[in-house]
Amino acid sequence: MISQESARAKSAAVARRRAKLVGMPRHAGRYGAWHLFVLPALSDNYMYALRHAETGAVVLVDPGEMAPVVNWLGMQQCCLHTILLTHHHQDHIGAAAGLRDVYGCRILGSAQDRMRLPPLDYEAEVGECFFIEGERIAMLGVPGHTLGHVAYHLPDAGLLFSGDTLFSLGCGRLFEGTPEMMLESLEMLAALPDETMLCCGHEYTLANARFALAHDPENAALRARYEEAVALRARGLPTLPVPLHIEKAANPFLRTMGDVTRFAKLRALKDAFS
Ligand code: ZN
Ligand code: FE
Repeated sequence: MISQESARAKSAAVARRRAKLVGMPRHAGRYGAWHLFVLPALSDNYMYALRHAETGAVVLVDPGEMAPVVNWLGMQQCCLHTILLTHHHQDHIGAAAGLRDVYGCRILGSAQDRMRLPPLDYEAEVGECFFIEGERIAMLGVPGHTLGHVAYHLPDAGLLFSGDTLFSLGCGRLFEGTPEMMLESLEMLAALPDETMLCCGHEYTLANARFALAHDPENAALRARYEEAVALRARGLPTLPVPLHIEKAANPFLRTMGDVTRFAKLRALKDAFS
């Protein structure tokens, strides 16, 4: 049996650990061979830049806006190597062709969506693995938000770029796919290792948290994630990336795994939530 005193000491230690976590910006960091940078774009999009620690080569995910990328590259000793695209929506591809014109980088996207992406220099097939600067990158097919949506997983660096499929505490709207498709896509992402850092396409965490808390008010992991997000946003910092194990415990859409009826109902409620 735990004495009251040791229980108190334990909860104080937990609170200290949490305070430390809340105070720790996760917006940039080293992941394997790469430094990760989160670049805000448009009203609430995130672009992600990976700069190779040795070669300086930059991989950029979903450039929706040109100026922040040009400014950031201007401050770095590096060159834009490859642009990765998750899906065809303008807020994710808008600056891709313009950046290629300026920097001569290549654009990589899904062969399946080639007709509605900017002209691709390299088309990868869903399920294919390719290498950039020796880094293995898997293109995962995650239809639902759009039919051709893909995610990029870097298993050795422990990074996942999920575009508009999986958000922190939420998931993308079903513009083209069915609930079955989206749930299967989310299940595939949730099956990745717990320590994987999730990098998603929008800063929707607080709005998602308000919906999630209305439906799952007793979830301690959700409350903790909400408090962390409030603290980060108060300091003007992104709430991403976030470890997948936190999302698995806190994201209501990841807690409907295996139950498509529940998932579809939750997605419909979220669409109607203001
Ligand atoms: Zn989208
Ligand atoms: Fe988007």
